[in-house]
Amino acid sequence: MVFDVMKARQDFPILAREMAPGVPLVYLDSAASAQKPRVVMDAMVSMMTHSYANVHRGIHRLGDEATDIYEGARSRAARFIGAQAAEEIVFVRGATEGINLVAQAWGRTHVGPGDEILVSEIEHHANLVPWRMLVQEKGATVRMAPVRDDGSLDMMVLAGMMNARTKMLAITAMSNVLGVINPVREIVALAHARGIPVLVDACQAAVHGQTDVQALGCDFLVFSAHKLYGPTGIGVLWGRKEILDSMPPWQGGGHMIDRVTPETITYAGVPARFEAGTMPIVESAGLVAALDYLDGFGMDAIAAHDRMLHDAARERLARIPGLRLMGGAPGSSNIVSFTLDGAQAYDVASIADKCGVALRAGHHCAQPLMRRLGVDATVRASFGLYNTLEEVEQLGRAIEKAREMLS
Ligand code: PLP
Repeated sequence: MVFDVMKARQDFPILAREMAPGVPLVYLDSAASAQKPRVVMDAMVSMMTHSYANVHRGIHRLGDEATDIYEGARSRAARFIGAQAAEEIVFVRGATEGINLVAQAWGRTHVGPGDEILVSEIEHHANLVPWRMLVQEKGATVRMAPVRDDGSLDMMVLAGMMNARTKMLAITAMSNVLGVINPVREIVALAHARGIPVLVDACQAAVHGQTDVQALGCDFLVFSAHKLYGPTGIGVLWGRKEILDSMPPWQGGGHMIDRVTPETITYAGVPARFEAGTMPIVESAGLVAALDYLDGFGMDAIAAHDRMLHDAARERLARIPGLRLMGGAPGSSNIVSFTLDGAQAYDVASIADKCGVALRAGHHCAQPLMRRLGVDATVRASFGLYNTLEEVEQLGRAIEKAREMLS
């Protein structure tokens, strides 16, 4: 199917906004959060208008309808990532909460003094801090596999860091700073050959191409709906059923119990055991609409569009004197990070903003990677399915303007 970006743009009302008279919005911060198509908003409004109530509680019709929507979203999310059963999908607030859930519920049982959790140098803090918190409590350590200058992992070094004390390998499928895509299938095979389970942070990768947990072979995978053109407040933790079944609950509250007496508690099965309290009900309707929207184009078509923009942006930015492009590992996509000689990243992004170009500047929640790159901050442009080659050119012009003003 040919991807028609101009047609797709019409689905996103916010793109009609002018940031100043005659200055259109060029939104290049989709890796932080993607804009929302009308179908996602409509699905959420429709649920609140017609079928809203709390889920799993009602003896009434609205409660049943809301529960059907919420549980339907679980099946839809399972289909999106090729899970074997809807019960393998745990709804969480986002990728961050999913990783915290695994670090606490799984980690507290399986990690002890002297054990190791293996991560990489390009992880988002969401896939680092929860593990650091766990190991502090347990007297274990987090080890960080280094990356090469282009952001790619050295697989030999990674394999060499796996040992009998490694209790979990937690790795991103795609860097939120460099757009580097890790060979997850190969990494999982290396880890499994040594009996090490693998958690995949698919927060960036899920929007960039097809995610298939069976093909990846991993044990846990997380993603957030808001990066997939869906709402904030809902994300997915997928886990193999047998592993989820073996895990104790994480947060306590309503819905996650089987029976409570003044003296005893027994817990519900999976996934209810991990979904304490009122869940993101309206957001689940938005998630379904977002996944349907994406599948309407096909993830392969979206991935090809992202890659085209990424390659064009690197090529355009490389022509600017004094601009240092980070990363560049073969196969990278969707995200470009750079610095400009003699200029602070924040100043560059502020000038771009005056040109209507929304960029991100900072450490991008990846401070160990910043240290590896030898910088405090970078400017980051990240693309969505609504971005165009003309916008890549506008990015180039905005950075040239920043260079003129700051040097
Ligand atoms: N992992 C990666 C690679 C990310 O890019 C992000 C967010 O930028 C996260 C995890 C955390 O996602 P959230 O803030 O939606 O929980």
